[in-house]
Amino acid sequence: MWSVHKFGGTCVGSSERIQNVAQVIVQDSSEGKLVVVSAMSKVTDMMYDLINKAQSRGDSYVSAVDAVFEKHKLTAMDLLDGDDLASFLSRLHHDINNLKAMLRAIYIAGHATESFSDFIVGHGELWSAQMLSYVVRKNGLDCEWMDTREVLIVNPSGSNQVDPDFAESEKRLEEWFSRHPSKTIVATGFIASTQQNIPTTLKRDGSDFSAAIMGSLLRARQVTIWTDVDGVYSADPRKVSEAVILRTLSYQEAWEMSYFGANVLHPRTIMPVMRYDIPIMIRNVFNLSAPGTMICRPAENEDGQKLESPVRGFATIDNVALVNVEGTGMAGVPGTASAIFGAVKDVGANVIVISQASSEHSVCFAVPEKEVAAVAEALKSRFSEALNAGRLSQVAIIPNCSILAAVGQKMASTYGVSATLFNALAKANINVRAIAQGCSEYNVTAVIKREDCIRALRAVHSRFYLSKTT
Ligand code: ASP
Repeated sequence: MWSVHKFGGTCVGSSERIQNVAQVIVQDSSEGKLVVVSAMSKVTDMMYDLINKAQSRGDSYVSAVDAVFEKHKLTAMDLLDGDDLASFLSRLHHDINNLKAMLRAIYIAGHATESFSDFIVGHGELWSAQMLSYVVRKNGLDCEWMDTREVLIVNPSGSNQVDPDFAESEKRLEEWFSRHPSKTIVATGFIASTQQNIPTTLKRDGSDFSAAIMGSLLRARQVTIWTDVDGVYSADPRKVSEAVILRTLSYQEAWEMSYFGANVLHPRTIMPVMRYDIPIMIRNVFNLSAPGTMICRPAENEDGQKLESPVRGFATIDNVALVNVEGTGMAGVPGTASAIFGAVKDVGANVIVISQASSEHSVCFAVPEKEVAAVAEALKSRFSEALNAGRLSQVAIIPNCSILAAVGQKMASTYGVSATLFNALAKANINVRAIAQGCSEYNVTAVIKREDCIRALRAVHSRFYLSKTT
């Protein structure tokens, strides 16, 4: 049975780190290993920057592309020798020459299309995967590298997202294996192809998603996401010093935490593995003695584990603003919510939290701060007649807010969680501007003033966690 490992950019950020990753792979005795790898840290940013420089018609893209070349050449020279080095450097030369030609075209046109950009930015993964596969082989394990653009097929799904075509990808993966029988594969994260075989990406930070898709295509035993932290914390340890590592999380909990900015995983990572009950392990590649966090079905996750707190973790999102649409003319009028959120959609803003009391007198929602001015303008124009006629009294913005979310699957069947949460906030003198809880009850969300956020996080964390184990 296959296991999938994914190493993020910091794990392969230097020649020493690539060497360390190769050791971890070689020491894993499982039979089939598919290793998904990100670009070396900062490389994807460098690639996007090349495009921006060329688009703005600055010559500096030429020296910037040389810097990308040098970084990979020096890393390869540290790691490889003989034919391996020659073959990697010849491929690198070839790619860099192609990139220069493409960037020149962007410089002339002053614009890069999405597929041009996706093709360019995916090179970081092509290079890191090849280097790592050579190093694994040098360490004695037969290994091949996989350009996942040959295998992973995705369809655009709007809003800068893509959906995997699992059936087509499975077919292509089988074909790939018929040509490459190796049992250790280093595959590129982040990149894929469209149905028309045009290179594309899974969008920023998409390598976790790549690993989850590969895990699901292979019906893998486990997907391990190797990173530079010991696991998923009950709260951001930079803000809450008593934060603890959660040994287990359910899929739903991990999902809620990742949507709420806990930086656990790419939010789309859960779905593909959940389909086949494949556990995800989060491990620290720089601290192998740390057991990490296992994300799996709740039945397994409760085994031998005392879940004393129904709230497993807290996550926050900063830099949000609330929009409050209010007026007596809203009550009982079908289509009001649709008109409000239609206007929000038209300006391309993302709604993070929605709250409406049953009097239907007001609808309040949170959007990223940088999008709020456009949202307010769109609403004022959409509802100008209702505002003039007094059916709506206001479209108000409440800036400088943060979102605090308490996450836990067991909240659903436990009394008093909200009471404890809001009591802790009240005791810390924190004013709650809006509240939301979906009926899945995995998440209770409060919108508070940004300046109160860290204090709020510490107050609720200590109320639920102080002197408790995970
Ligand atoms: N290299 C890509 C990025 O930085 C994908 C990833 O690392 O997850 O967005």
